[in-house]
Amino acid sequence: MGVPFLHINQQGFVDLLVNRIEHEEKTFVITANPEVVMQANENPTVMNYLKKATYVCADGIGVVKAAQILGDSLPERVTGYDTMVRLLEVGNTKRFKIYLLGAQNETLEKTVKNINQTYPNVDVVGYHDGFFDWNKNDIASEIAALKPDLVFVALGVPRQEKWITENLDQFSKGVFIGVGGSFDVIAG
Ligand code: UDP
Repeated sequence: MGVPFLHINQQGFVDLLVNRIEHEEKTFVITANPEVVMQANENPTVMNYLKKATYVCADGIGVVKAAQILGDSLPERVTGYDTMVRLLEVGNTKRFKIYLLGAQNETLEKTVKNINQTYPNVDVVGYHDGFFDWNKNDIASEIAALKPDLVFVALGVPRQEKWITENLDQFSKGVFIGVGGSFDVIAG
């Protein structure tokens, strides 16, 4: 359906992103679920986000099954949440710097607290809730100055992909990944 999915399994994808972080290669990740694929086929702007991403992976069994039916099998689902958790695990040994953007303030504070408790060697260099004025560009400037290894963007689909697409040019490094409702899950 025109979406350039990466043929990779979950562990391989995490290894690939860790490698990109270690080489300071700027990376834009979209984990696309069936809803995103449908949106992209109806809305060229959303398809454009998918084309601009460095990697698009199959978020959900629906995408994996559809690919199988269409004769272009994908190894397994690679979700935003699983990718985030595994990157935090690796980040805890490699002392990654991370920035969190998105969710309600209270949820975000709990997410930061839980990450600090579970992954004490991960350095949360900054965070901002997901209800901000898009016309002011202070968040992107802050992230550009902090130069985190990883930026988790939880603004919902396709808002998070729009934000990354519009701001990516300002950053010199970092893996930028849309993670949907993952902060809500980590917050408990
Ligand atoms: N969210 C946000 N800003 C917004 C809208 C949503 O930060 O303007 C957050 C919301 O609080 C939640 C996350 O985005 O933590 C995912 O939202 P939702 O479940 O609606 O997205 P989806 O599951 O459709 O990707």
